[in-house]
Amino acid sequence: MKRKQKVFLLVVLSGMLLACAGCVRIMTYTAVDTVMGTVSSQTIYSSREEDCFTSEIKDLIAGLEQDTLSWRVEGSEVARINAAAGSGADVQVSEKLYADLEILLKLSEDSDGAFDITIRPVAELWDIDGWAAGENIFGRQPVHIPTKEQIALALSYTDYEKVLLEDGAVELPEGMALDLGAVGKGIACDRVFLYLQAKYVQGAVVSVGGSVVTIGRKPDGTQWQIGIVDPWDTSAFVGILYLEGTHFVSTSGDYERYVEVDGVRYHHILNPATGYPAESGVRSVTILCDSGILSDALSTACFVLGEERGMALAEAYGAEALFVDTEGNISMTEGMKQVFQER
Ligand code: AMP
Ligand code: MG
Repeated sequence: MKRKQKVFLLVVLSGMLLACAGCVRIMTYTAVDTVMGTVSSQTIYSSREEDCFTSEIKDLIAGLEQDTLSWRVEGSEVARINAAAGSGADVQVSEKLYADLEILLKLSEDSDGAFDITIRPVAELWDIDGWAAGENIFGRQPVHIPTKEQIALALSYTDYEKVLLEDGAVELPEGMALDLGAVGKGIACDRVFLYLQAKYVQGAVVSVGGSVVTIGRKPDGTQWQIGIVDPWDTSAFVGILYLEGTHFVSTSGDYERYVEVDGVRYHHILNPATGYPAESGVRSVTILCDSGILSDALSTACFVLGEERGMALAEAYGAEALFVDTEGNISMTEGMKQVFQER
């Protein structure tokens, strides 16, 4: 073939390829559901209809709660562990839960117990889950503020060091119980990521309460935008994270669940050292990293630790962190500065 002909053929062929690339229709599927006691939104970009069953994502998250994480659901893995506490029997759990518990116990240690998955007796005493029901048509429900003695007793049943993990099984001493409320949504994001990874999606962004996973790219080439809630006005954002590719983001804030009694505000993130809501000078902590469980666990741990110690813990885990303190000041790690834009 002569050189001129070759060049002509190449131009025609590449034109055909470009035309074909242009033919691929990327579809957008969106859904908003209530799952895990919170709101989950899902947006998936894919050229294949069979990859876009957002209802499967909802089922996956609901299944994770029912079968594994919820202490309320009789027969779930966590409920079985709690029910067996003190019986001397260990409870065999799924590989995934076992691996997650190993990560969480390590973080409990690394955070000097600021994060503690055995916080359940104290959370139960405060009736944090009852606060969510808060109001009914007859008005506000009476809220029980525990006494110091009650808190001391509940605290004596919390200690992550007493959780025994061995050969795929978990054992707890009597009176103790696990509470994975601080990480359920992050674990859900991990599972959604694994589910979507096996599909041919071009991009996806899925939120479960205060945790978000972004995957791949948006078809229009723009970045993912994750808003960070303003603790003083939860309908507004203090700023936006601009992200490309796969990331996990979780925020823990004192505005997410709280009650006010006699002018005092009590929120749902507890300091395992005192048994009271953490007062560490921050109103919210946002963590950005490459794992859902870690982003969610670190956001809770860093809230309890406060800015200085929290920042050090996040950095030790290679995670980016952003703190909004009680004065409204924002501070963050260097990597977070690269992706955060204040409003
Ligand atoms: P998050 O909103 O992700 O920070 O999680 C808060 C939830 O985690 C609470 O509703 C409790 O169920 C649980 N929790 C509260 N304080 C702690 C803590 N210090 N360590 C582990 N879990 C906690
Ligand atoms: Mg959390």
